[in-house]
Amino acid sequence: MSAQLIDGNALSQQLRRDVAARAQALKARGITPGLAVVLVGDNPASQVYVRNKVKACEDAGLHSVLEKYDASLSEVDLLTRVESLNQDPSIHGILVQLPLPAHIDSQKIIEAISPGKDVDGFHVASAGALMTGMPGFWPCTPYGCMKMLESIDYNLRGKHAVVIGRSNIVGKPMALMLLQQNATVTICHSATPNLKTMTLQADVIVAAVGKRNVLTADMVKPGAVVLDVGMNRNDEGKLCGDVDFEGVKQVASFITPVPGGVGPMTITMLLVNTLAAAETIAHGSPV
Ligand code: NAP
Repeated sequence: MSAQLIDGNALSQQLRRDVAARAQALKARGITPGLAVVLVGDNPASQVYVRNKVKACEDAGLHSVLEKYDASLSEVDLLTRVESLNQDPSIHGILVQLPLPAHIDSQKIIEAISPGKDVDGFHVASAGALMTGMPGFWPCTPYGCMKMLESIDYNLRGKHAVVIGRSNIVGKPMALMLLQQNATVTICHSATPNLKTMTLQADVIVAAVGKRNVLTADMVKPGAVVLDVGMNRNDEGKLCGDVDFEGVKQVASFITPVPGGVGPMTITMLLVNTLAAAETIAHGSPV
């Protein structure tokens, strides 16, 4: 058996077309959805990420502002900048690219973002809303994973989902989203003694670790759906995920590739969240 690919690029294009159309409708009412991306320092990976995010906004007809600051920017000055973006009516979403330099408390900065503009979904208000099933912004990467499952009409009710990784930005919100769709969810992490015993029970596996080959074919139940969030480099320096793709695709029913899987979906869901923030201003709720 060879698994079907869930193509994150194709799904992203489809969703971005919808974002563009809805953004156009808002513009006709005098509101251009706007995203501010704040980058502090010159981390090369962060520079690529913010460039991609800003370009995706422009391609979808969203207004975007990229603010770049020297790594020496003080925490107080960054807080002041965030507050002025909170007050800026042309900005509906604020993203402060992580990681921040060590002298800045990232959580303090995230908590300074107005929850109504927290399009990354990292604010405690957003986390609390997800946990309690209230409306709020969902973190983009797990939200993108949920859209991928939706794209294959996968009904999570009664299914067993295993999430590998428990970070605040991927693993934990992923588990909550799966739970909300009535899956039975197991969260695994670095202290999980026998990962294979867990993953072999899973109908859906989400790997969000950041280590190559965390999931191999012998750890996957035939027919399982496998979503690979990881971003790593192989020995040749090429981008790869956490999953042994060649092996696991022989066992799984659906699998996401790296690159071209969850990565593009993350940026797409940022656009979706920014649009939803602007629609909430315009209509009182997302369309
Ligand atoms: P993270 O904060 O480093 O969390 C990694 C998690 O993996 C932790 O919970 C850790 O457990 C767990 N873990 C580590 N080794 C393990 C093992 N051997 N077995 C089981 N669990 C293990 O990373 P993250 O921010 O969640 O990101 C995870 C990966 O996704 C990274 O490769 C990152 O680059 C990628 N990512 C991709 C996107 C995208 O758009 N595609 C977006 C975000 C992140 P402990 O909690 O016990 O330490």
